[in-house]
Amino acid sequence: MSETEKVKCSFCGRNKQDTDVLIAGITGHICDSCVVQAQNIIKEEKPEAVKDTLIGELRLLKPYDIKKHIDEYVIGQEEAKKILSVAVYNHYKRISQEEIQDDNEIEIEKSNIIMVGETGTGKTLLAKTIAKMLNVPFCIADATVLTEAGYVGEDVESIISRLLQAADYDVASAEKGIIFIDEIDKIARKSDNASITRDVSGEGVQQALLKLLEGSVVNVSPQGGRKHPEQKLISVDTKNVLFICGGAFDSIEKIIQKRLKVKAIGFDTSDTEKYDEEEILQYVSPQDLKSFGLIPELIGRLSVLTYLKPLDKYALRRILTEPKNSLIKQYVKLFEMDNIKLTIDKNVLELVVEKALEFKLGARGLRSICEAILLDAMFDSPSDKKIKEIKITLNYAKEKLQKVSVNKLKVA
Ligand code: ADP
Repeated sequence: MSETEKVKCSFCGRNKQDTDVLIAGITGHICDSCVVQAQNIIKEEKPEAVKDTLIGELRLLKPYDIKKHIDEYVIGQEEAKKILSVAVYNHYKRISQEEIQDDNEIEIEKSNIIMVGETGTGKTLLAKTIAKMLNVPFCIADATVLTEAGYVGEDVESIISRLLQAADYDVASAEKGIIFIDEIDKIARKSDNASITRDVSGEGVQQALLKLLEGSVVNVSPQGGRKHPEQKLISVDTKNVLFICGGAFDSIEKIIQKRLKVKAIGFDTSDTEKYDEEEILQYVSPQDLKSFGLIPELIGRLSVLTYLKPLDKYALRRILTEPKNSLIKQYVKLFEMDNIKLTIDKNVLELVVEKALEFKLGARGLRSICEAILLDAMFDSPSDKKIKEIKITLNYAKEKLQKVSVNKLKVA
């Protein structure tokens, strides 16, 4: 027997070759499973001694692995995925640095994220997928309903109470959560000119959001909504909360185009870069967000900027079947629960994509179109014990779709 084969875990006695990792101490060894067991014992005996293991686990997730995980759920959007993976990795690295609390370390600043892209291109899905993967609390806030404190509507701090609810009122866990703020473009001020009359719904909300984004201690009412004087408030520090904002920024392409052309003036034209006019969004810069109406301070707090491409027919087709929980896989599962084998012809899937494009419904439309095609089958088959198999053919799908109006698909 060789020397290495003789080395054993001093706790469970397992040989080195039977363990994944064997750590050497001064007089003994410990294997990976005993480390995990020991940690569980400490967790039970002295929970306060074990900091959230989240950070430890996160350290193992490198940007490459984060992206690989997102790939399973989100189709395309390569650039956005790469940028988000790095941003998320750096964010949690920053948190872990804080936990170590080394005063001599260079302090890493927080980088919140902003994504620009048409609705239904996967902004919310990206944020949700990342939060789920990291197992951190997550909530979605709609910027359009936010108002400054004192006005009718939800004040920005209500977002934090929602995150707290998502964290089951575990403040420490909420403080490491992710908040997705949708429709951030809707709180743009109407003009780039700051001196124009104060715009309550836009700039005021942007100002209010600033504090949250850079990190501040917010006192929130546990139930959300307005604070009542007699209510006990909970303090939540947003310093380590990751904010991901998304918006369609309608017509921002024009702003980008204008900037790119303007820049070209005065330069030797043969030297200027060639821009892909079809995909102008890829050149979006913080300057364009400012021209659109976001205040510079807010843009400064959203230091990671990325864009999402409009989904073409190839992407839509892939979305139907490829993601881990794709729509079609979900329907197959639903029927399977009634012991029915569902098969859908390939040309039906092409039809679904065609209709989604025709009605300009994007990825959001895929579900309502599938629903319209499968409604009768989903209604009838569970009560008919004789049905063991359902095959959706092109003719069947066309017939079902004929009966539905576009408006109905939109509502669904
Ligand atoms: P957005 O936030 O950009 O408006 P969502 O992320 O809410 O869009 O997308 C709506 C739905 O469309 C998602 O739930 C998902 O089913 C589908 N979807 C959109 N984009 C993608 C994508 N790139 N990959 C997979 N599914 C997508």
